[in-house]
Amino acid sequence: MKNLIFLVFRGILFFMPVSNFFAQAIPHCGNSPEWEAELSDPVQQARRQVMEAAIAEAMQRDDAITSRSPIVIPVVVHVVWRDPEENIDDARIWSQIERLNLDFNAENEDIDQVPDEFKPFVGNPGIRFCLAAEDPAGNPTNGIVRVQTTERGIAMKRDNLFYSDRGGSNAWDPTRYLNIWTGDNFTPNGISVTGYAYSPWTETPERSGIVISLDFFGINDSRLGMGRLAVHEVGHYLGLRHIWGDNSPPTCNDDDGISDTPNQFFYNFNCPSYPQHSCDGTSNMFMNYMDYVYDRCMMMFTKEQTQLMNAVLALYRPGLLNTTIPCVQKPERVFADAFTVYPNPARRAIYLNFAEQVAEPGEILLYNINGRVVFREFFILRNGMEVMLHDLIPGMYFLRIGESMRKLIVHP
Ligand SMILES: [Zn+2]
Repeated sequence: MKNLIFLVFRGILFFMPVSNFFAQAIPHCGNSPEWEAELSDPVQQARRQVMEAAIAEAMQRDDAITSRSPIVIPVVVHVVWRDPEENIDDARIWSQIERLNLDFNAENEDIDQVPDEFKPFVGNPGIRFCLAAEDPAGNPTNGIVRVQTTERGIAMKRDNLFYSDRGGSNAWDPTRYLNIWTGDNFTPNGISVTGYAYSPWTETPERSGIVISLDFFGINDSRLGMGRLAVHEVGHYLGLRHIWGDNSPPTCNDDDGISDTPNQFFYNFNCPSYPQHSCDGTSNMFMNYMDYVYDRCMMMFTKEQTQLMNAVLALYRPGLLNTTIPCVQKPERVFADAFTVYPNPARRAIYLNFAEQVAEPGEILLYNINGRVVFREFFILRNGMEVMLHDLIPGMYFLRIGESMRKLIVHP
């Protein structure tokens, strides 16, 4: 079967340029050689080689793990919007920060789903993110810049997105902040990428950070859904390559430069069943954040990826390690006595109502009668929201949101 799949891949690749294949079939990340014209620039290639050699050396010396405790990277989010609905609310932005914090601290709710063969390789980058509470001029801020633009598809217009005088938004000092831009990625011909990032060897001070297409930013309704495109892009920003290596056309002879990710022919997409094999029969680590699967099917960095990201921080983004920029404190909401569940008893789904109108990220936890968490997920909390109860054994449970708890009976 695997050979058949490769034949199909090779067949498609044979008949159309890889860039089109990427763009039409899997509009995912723009950090591919097809899209990154810069990487064919010999000057930039040379820069990359020098930097990657220095990173490898730092990792060998094992002094890559700095005395960070903890690392907290101040973030500014540039929302560059055209239509009012593109001017996303703070809740969605907070949900993106939450996702970065969970995944970059191996605190994600689905980390138990890593297959046993890969569990020993799970790494914890130990990096936290917060919205910056102080702008470059020293003024108080909520870490969110909102800019209205007349440009359609601004997120994909690299000549405009990074310049306030061209309908975009100027970067904040990239030595002190991680810049995250979001905007729409509409393109008339349907070819687009969902996001991209600048690594230390591709960036300029004007273009340092990551770009996430609005549809995939934070908790969202797309097929990705959980805000993990930003996790992937921050991985690039901190020096990681795609897990399959980036040669085009794909081969088994290239590599991501990381020894604890198995050699992999090409990317995986959608939500593959485990295991998937490619090069030399090795099992693909498709649940790695640097592959192309759906958000709900990716859940880990490896130890060496973690080391590399920390080495990049120490060598090329030291300002982020030594920053004195304060963080915006997340507005804590107490849902005391604030929600109702129906139907109760329930079967496959429940709906939630809140005492007041809310639209902000919140964690929904379900405990069984032994107090064990059987369900944990972040949502944008809204009146009438649906929560699917997959694979729950009939019985009594406790549903918790914030400080508030409700008893829930699940029927067969
Ligand atoms: Zn990528």
